[in-house]
Amino acid sequence: MSGNRYPERPVVLSEPYADLIPDPVPGCSECNALDEERYEARKLRKFAAAVVASQRIRNHGCGHRA
Ligand SMILES: [Zn+2]
Repeated sequence: MSGNRYPERPVVLSEPYADLIPDPVPGCSECNALDEERYEARKLRKFAAAVVASQRIRNHGCGHRA
């Protein structure tokens, strides 16, 4: 007997917040720090924290137009 009551669904790790991912500005240490923070957050599946980091990168990104 199979105790498998649930049909197996392929776990597709789509990016729920893909469009909230701005590019960190290369060479900007603050962007890099936020990017790392976001990466860690996503690794830990703390998506809310990842989104916050993304937003901070985005907002910060507007601030360094040379
Ligand atoms: Zn930056």
